[in-house]
Amino acid sequence: MKALLRQIPPIHELQNTAEFVRFITTQDLSLEKGTEIVKESVALIRKRILEDLWDGPSPDTGRFLHAIFTQAALIKKEKLSLSLHKVINASGTVLHTNLGRARMGQETIEHMSKVASSYSNLEYQLENGKRGSRHTHAEKFICELTGAEAAMVVNNNAAAVFLVLTALAKNKEVIVSRGELVEIGGSFRVSSIMEESGAKLVEVGTTNKTHLGDYQEHIREETAMIMKVHQSNFVIKGFTSSVVTEDLVNLTSEHEQVIYYEDLGSGALYDFSKRGIGQEPLVREVIQQGSDLVSFSGDKLLGGPQAGIIAGKKNIVDILKKHQLARVLRVDKMTLAALEMTLLHYLQEEEDKIPAIYAITRSKDEVMQQSIEMIAQLKQRNVPFTFELMEGKSQVGGGTMPEVDLDTCLISLSHDRYSSHELHKELRLQEPSIITRIQQDRLLLDLRTVSRDEMDELIEVLYNLSNDIDRENN
Ligand SMILES: *Cc1c(COP(=O)(O)O)cnc(C)c1O
Repeated sequence: MKALLRQIPPIHELQNTAEFVRFITTQDLSLEKGTEIVKESVALIRKRILEDLWDGPSPDTGRFLHAIFTQAALIKKEKLSLSLHKVINASGTVLHTNLGRARMGQETIEHMSKVASSYSNLEYQLENGKRGSRHTHAEKFICELTGAEAAMVVNNNAAAVFLVLTALAKNKEVIVSRGELVEIGGSFRVSSIMEESGAKLVEVGTTNKTHLGDYQEHIREETAMIMKVHQSNFVIKGFTSSVVTEDLVNLTSEHEQVIYYEDLGSGALYDFSKRGIGQEPLVREVIQQGSDLVSFSGDKLLGGPQAGIIAGKKNIVDILKKHQLARVLRVDKMTLAALEMTLLHYLQEEEDKIPAIYAITRSKDEVMQQSIEMIAQLKQRNVPFTFELMEGKSQVGGGTMPEVDLDTCLISLSHDRYSSHELHKELRLQEPSIITRIQQDRLLLDLRTVSRDEMDELIEVLYNLSNDIDRENN
C-alpha cells in the first residue's frame, strides 16, 4: 500500500500536465483555486487507498491521472452547487412546511425583485425627506383588511408570540386554557416560548373542557393577559368545551390591566368557509369581536412570505414597535415587498393570484381537466408509463385545517420494470425534483399544486426518466 501511495504524482508534477491545464480551463478556475481542488482530490484518493476503499485505477497505471481530474471536477461541482433547489410539489399538500409553505405569485415576485434590486423608501419618507419606519409599509393594508387600528410585521408568528409575551407580560401572569397548550410542527411550543419570554403561564381548565369561570377565578393583580391559542394542527373531539372570544373579551374588559390576545396561527383573510372549506375564523371577525391583539403567520393560509403579523389596538401595538426585541425580530425589505403585494391581491379581490389560495380552492374537476391534459401529452410523446385517473383527497397542510380533506383527482403512475417506491425515489432525484406520494403501494401525482409551466417540466422529467430506464435495460 505504501508503494502505491508513493506512486501518486506530487502536486507540482500534476500542475505541469496537459490534463491540469485542461481542467482549469474547462472549469474556469484560477491556477490557485485549481491547485487547491486538485490537492483535495489527491487527498481524498489517498485516504480511500489507505482505507482500502479505492476502486479506481491503480496509481501505477496511465488512467490514474484521469481519475484524479475526474474526482477534482466532482469536488468542484459539489463545492459550488447551490443548496436550495426548485421542487415540483405533486403531493397535493398545498402548504407543505418542508417544501417552503406558500409559494409567491408572479406579481409578488416582480415587486420583490424590484425592491431588492434597487434602493427603496424602506425607512425614508419621500414627501419630506425625513427618516421613516419600515413598520408603515404593510400596516395600512393589514388594517384595511382586518379592521385593526394598528399593525406590525416580524420574522414569523413564533417571533410575534415571543414579542407580545416579552413586551407585555414579562414577570406577570398569562392565563391559557390547558386545551390550547399546543406544540406546532417545527418545535413551537406555547409553554416553552412563554418560559423564554419571562411571562408566567397560568394553566386553567382541563385538556377537554375550559369554562369562563376557570379564567375568572385566576384573574388577579399579577395578571397581564388572557391568551387564546388556536389549535391549528389538531382537534379534540367529543366531550369538549372552550370559551368563545366574545366572552373572554367581555371578561377582560372588566379588568383594566388585562390584555386579551389571540394567537390565531393561520390567520385567514379569505373566507374559505364560503367555498365549503373548513371553519377557519377570519382575522377580521376576531378583531371585530373586540380582541386587543392578534397574531398570525404570513405563510400559512394567508399565502404570503414567512412573517408574523401582529394587529390590534394602537396603544398596545405602539408599545411593541418601540420594544428592543422589535429590532431583533424585524423583517427584510423583500419580505415586506412580498407581503404588501400579497395583501394588495386581497384588497383588489384577486385572490386567485395568490398561489396558495388558488390551489386550496381549485375544484376536483379543474384538477381532473389538468390531469387529463397531462396524460394526453404524455401519451403523445409515447412515454412508457401506465396512467390511471383516481379520485382522492389533498391536504391544506402547514399545520392548518387538519380536518379538511379537499376532493381531488389523482394520477396513478406505474411502470412495468419499476416498483412505485423506486419511482417515488427516482422522481425525487431528478432535476427538478418531483415530490409524489405513495398510498396503498400506488405512486400518486396530485396536480392541485402543480402549475401549467410545471406541468411541462414534469412531462419532460418523465420523458427523460423513461429514456434512462430504457437505456439501462438495453
Ligand atoms: C404555526 C403556528 C405558530 C408558529 O407560526 P410560524 O409562522 O410558523 O412561526 C404559532 N402559533 C400557532 C397557533 C400556529 O399555528
